[in-house]
Amino acid sequence: MTELAGFSGTVLTPDQDGYDEARRLWNAQHVRQPAVIAQVQSAEDVAVAIRYGVENGLEIAVRGGAHSVSGASSVDNGLMIDLSALNSVYVDAEARLARVGGGALLRDLDGATQEHGLAVPAGVISHTGVGGLTLGGGMGWLSRKYGLSIDNLESVQLVTADGSILRAAEDENPDLFWGVRGGGGNFGVVTEFEFRLHEAGPMVQYGMQFWTVDQGADVLRLARELFPTLPADINIVIAALNAPPAPFVPEALHFAPGYAFVTVGFGPPEQHAEVLERIRTALPPSFEFGTPMPYVALQQSLDEPNDWGHHSYEKGSYLKELSDGAIEVITQEIAKKVSPMSATMIYRLDQAYSAVDDDATAFGGERTDQYALFIVGHTLAPELLEAEKQWVRSFWEALQPHTAGIGSYVNGMTEAEDDRIKASYGSKYERLQQIKAKYDPDNVFHRNQNILPA
Ligand code: FAD
Repeated sequence: MTELAGFSGTVLTPDQDGYDEARRLWNAQHVRQPAVIAQVQSAEDVAVAIRYGVENGLEIAVRGGAHSVSGASSVDNGLMIDLSALNSVYVDAEARLARVGGGALLRDLDGATQEHGLAVPAGVISHTGVGGLTLGGGMGWLSRKYGLSIDNLESVQLVTADGSILRAAEDENPDLFWGVRGGGGNFGVVTEFEFRLHEAGPMVQYGMQFWTVDQGADVLRLARELFPTLPADINIVIAALNAPPAPFVPEALHFAPGYAFVTVGFGPPEQHAEVLERIRTALPPSFEFGTPMPYVALQQSLDEPNDWGHHSYEKGSYLKELSDGAIEVITQEIAKKVSPMSATMIYRLDQAYSAVDDDATAFGGERTDQYALFIVGHTLAPELLEAEKQWVRSFWEALQPHTAGIGSYVNGMTEAEDDRIKASYGSKYERLQQIKAKYDPDNVFHRNQNILPA
C-alpha cells in the first residue's frame, strides 16, 4: 500500500477493492486510471496528499462531485484527491450562515438548509458537487433572486499547492477570495465554503409548458418579450428537449421534440399562476403540468434524466439578447439533433445576477442582463456520442455571430480551449494570472479551466 505519512483517510491503488467505484466520473466518456486515489477526511489530509503528489511527481486531480463534463476531476497515472467524505453541512440558522464541506453535493446542502426554510442559490441538479459548481460561479433557480452561488460566499478554507491551509475572505487574503469566486479550482483545494443563507421554500411553485418543435421561433420570441418583465421571484429556464413519456403528456407527444418553459415561483402562488396564464394566453402550449412542490423536490426533479453513466459533450455561449438572427439559428439547429436525450438549455441572467459589479468577483461572464445557453449532447451508448459532438459543435459555430463572443460559462466547457477560457474571463484574466503565480506558481492545479501563472 502506498504510504502517505500522517494521512487519516483511505488510500486506494488499482488492485484494491473500492478503487473502481472511487475513480468513476459522472461523464462515462472519461474512464481514467489514477495511480493513487487519496480519500481525504480533513484539510490536513488534503495537505498531506498534495505534498505527496508534488514530491512524487504525480499529476494531481481534485474530485468534488465528479460532474466536470471534461473529466477534469481524475487523471491517468496520477493522484486523485477525492473530497467526497468532506460532505458535512453545518447550518447556523440564526446567523443565516452555512459551513459546507468541499466535497458536499447540492443535495447535502439543500437538505440541511431547508430544514430551516433557508437556501443557497446553486444549480438545478442535486447530484452536482458544491465544489466545482461554486468555484466556477453557480447558477440555478435562485440566481435571479439571490445571484450566483459565489455572490453568497462569505469565506473559504483552502489548501494551497505548498500544503498551507489558508482562510480567504474579504478581510483575509482578499486577492485569493476574489479569485476563487469564479476562477475555478486553480488556486488550491477548497475544504470548506461558508455561505450566506436566504429564505426560500419550503414549498415552491412549479410549472412546465411545452410546445412542439415547429413552434420554436414563437416560443423564443415570447421569452424575449416576457422574461425582462418578470419579478425576481419567478425564474424560467427554456429547455429544448424531447417530451417525457409521463402521465401528463398526451401519448401522441411522448418523446416528441419541442420546447418547454420550466417556470419556478418563489413568491405567492397567485403570482406564479398569473405568469403561467400570461404565457398560456400568448401562446397556448401543447400540454402543461403544474404543482406546488418542496424546494428539495424541485432540486431533484431533473436528477434522473441527468443521471450518472451517460456519455456527454457540451458547449455554451452567452447571448446578450434573443435576436431574430439567434432565434433563426437556434430553431434550425435544434431540429438537427440526433439523440432524443440531447438538449439545449437557456438560463436567464438578470436581476440579482446583474446587480453585482463586474469586478466584484472573478466570474467569467459580464454582469449585464443576458442569457447563458448550453448545447448538451447526451447518449447512453458511447458510439452514439460522436454524432452529438458534431451537432453540438456545428450548432455552436453557427450561433457565433449572434453571441457575446467565444467565451462562455466556464463550468459548461467540455474541452480545455485556452482561447475560450481567456475570452470568458476577458480583462480579469491577467489579474487571475497574478493570483495564480502567487498561490500556485508551478501550476500544480491544472486539471480545470486552467489559468496560466503570470
Ligand atoms: P468535479 O468534476 O468534481 O470538479 C469540477 C472541477 O472543479 C475540477 O476541475 C475539480 O478539480 C474542481 N473542484 C471540485 N471541487 C473542488 C474543491 N472543493 N476545491 C478545488 N477544486 C475543486 N452548473 C451550474 O452552475 N448550474 C447548474 O444547474 C448545473 N447543472 C449541471 C448538471 C449536470 C448534470 C452537470 C454534469 C453539470 C452541471 N453544472 C451546472 C456544471 C457544474 O457546475 C460543473 O460541472 C462543476 O464543475 C461540477 O462540480 P463537481 O464538484 O461536481 O465536479
